[in-house]
Amino acid sequence: MERLAFSTNGHRISGEAEVEVFRLEGQPMIAGAAPSCKVCGIHPQLQISGEVVRAVEPCPYPDGITTEITLEVRSGKIIVTDDLRPVYDWNGRTTADYDSVLGQAEAVRAMAAQGCAYGPVGNSCPGFYRTGPGNYIIAAPWHDDEGIPSLPEDTRLAGVCTDLWAYSIADFDDWIARGGDPETLDWTYTVLEIPPGTYRFVHHTGERDFNGYAAETAIFAHVERIA
Ligand SMILES: [Zn+2]
Repeated sequence: MERLAFSTNGHRISGEAEVEVFRLEGQPMIAGAAPSCKVCGIHPQLQISGEVVRAVEPCPYPDGITTEITLEVRSGKIIVTDDLRPVYDWNGRTTADYDSVLGQAEAVRAMAAQGCAYGPVGNSCPGFYRTGPGNYIIAAPWHDDEGIPSLPEDTRLAGVCTDLWAYSIADFDDWIARGGDPETLDWTYTVLEIPPGTYRFVHHTGERDFNGYAAETAIFAHVERIA
């Protein structure tokens, strides 16, 4: 066994610096299956050229994926929580693996098509913060040595417990019309009044430079009233 440098061609692959190869009658052969890309979800075909192993096809999303969706809030009330299944559910129907950025973007779009602003946030317990008129963020603040959060507490309108490692936000009346039962609401749900309108959610966790564990405020999504 020996290890050759790995040129990933834009794919994001863990342990991506080198690939194990062995020699068969002097010809180098790649050992094991190709690992999958954390962004596009495919196992890229690999090719040995000289002393380098290359992914043949480039990653279609070298910068990752920013997912934009809109949510209609006609009632002026939203329900904010981690999990709004089974009222809204993509039922695992993503073409790419959900563990990839592309699979998560597909889930976000599938949920938006049903009327739910959904997005993965890891195990971050983020909040829904107001940052200005018609502007909000879904974010997890950084806490300094004294425990002071990097986002003002009085702008935190709702918290999201992350049993599901996601947020789910829907128009409250739409949620009820589709069978949601307010009697079942416990402390993990918040119903908020916000101006009625169309809201754009720009979800960032799939972006190449996104780091939810950096020592700073993690902004998972920007939310803006656009109409
Ligand atoms: Zn890729």
